[in-house]
Amino acid sequence: MDIFTSLLDFYSYIDSNTAFFLSSVFLLSLMIGSFLNVVIYRLPIMLKCEWKNDCIEFLSELSDSNEDKDVKNCSNNPQEEKTEIFNLSVPRSRCPSCGHQITALENIPVISWLFLKGKCSACHHPISIRYPLVELCTALFSVLVAYTYGIQWFTLAALILTWSMIALAIIDFDTQLLPDDITLPIMWLGVLMSLLSISSITLESSVIGLMIGYGSLWSIYQLFKILTGKEGMGFGDFKLLALLGAWLGWQSLPLILLLSALVGSIVGISLILLLGRDKNIPIPFGPYLASAGFISLIWGEQIKHTYLNMMLS
Ligand SMILES: [Zn+2]
Repeated sequence: MDIFTSLLDFYSYIDSNTAFFLSSVFLLSLMIGSFLNVVIYRLPIMLKCEWKNDCIEFLSELSDSNEDKDVKNCSNNPQEEKTEIFNLSVPRSRCPSCGHQITALENIPVISWLFLKGKCSACHHPISIRYPLVELCTALFSVLVAYTYGIQWFTLAALILTWSMIALAIIDFDTQLLPDDITLPIMWLGVLMSLLSISSITLESSVIGLMIGYGSLWSIYQLFKILTGKEGMGFGDFKLLALLGAWLGWQSLPLILLLSALVGSIVGISLILLLGRDKNIPIPFGPYLASAGFISLIWGEQIKHTYLNMMLS
């Protein structure tokens, strides 16, 4: 049997065995969830380091060109500062409390956390339940995507979109940042998927979705700024809605905006009423946009059909 036939056999096995397909997606996504935890924690730190270094460099250039001694003295020299390498793979994960290096056995998604009873094996410092929760949610959402779209290339694309949404939602919740390093490549990937006819959205609908997605929030932002003098959202939010427009088409944008406003106001009002949160603290909009985008990805067509039926009957 040559490789091609065995691949074909394997494909027909997965195709006829949905349980095997879905459990493979579940296990793979648990590991992706573990990686997302790393991205969620490290990417904002990496960005802030980068901005800080850029600022220091800019200030030192400024003072080099200036004869004024005071300007020269107050600037930091980036060469003097020894910076340690910090990226997604280096250094290895450590316990934030005692510095104990996490071993491979302690790094198994969900299971290690349960086995360690949510504590560091060296110093028994508690490990946040958020880590296994992110892994579990990533796996469950991914299975939902795989179940909805079945075995086709678009499923893989939709999984990448889902994983990015999870990372963006939590990073925005934590730091009020929506990193361009995620939004921009995933936005263009959405356009590419329609260009290659991998997604069911036409290229026209994708590009218009991108433009209207960005433009609509940008206009709301400008209007809000004129009326109240405050900045209600960040530019990351515009890019996130542009991304969703590129993936799901401009026709999905009203539903996404409606859903995110609905979820956002329910959560926002509950936070103010139940937890006594100060209503002047800005609430990041990214998590709601991301949730609304995911709901449209899975149930968008059904919601639109139900709505149309309700209107017609
Ligand atoms: Zn420890």
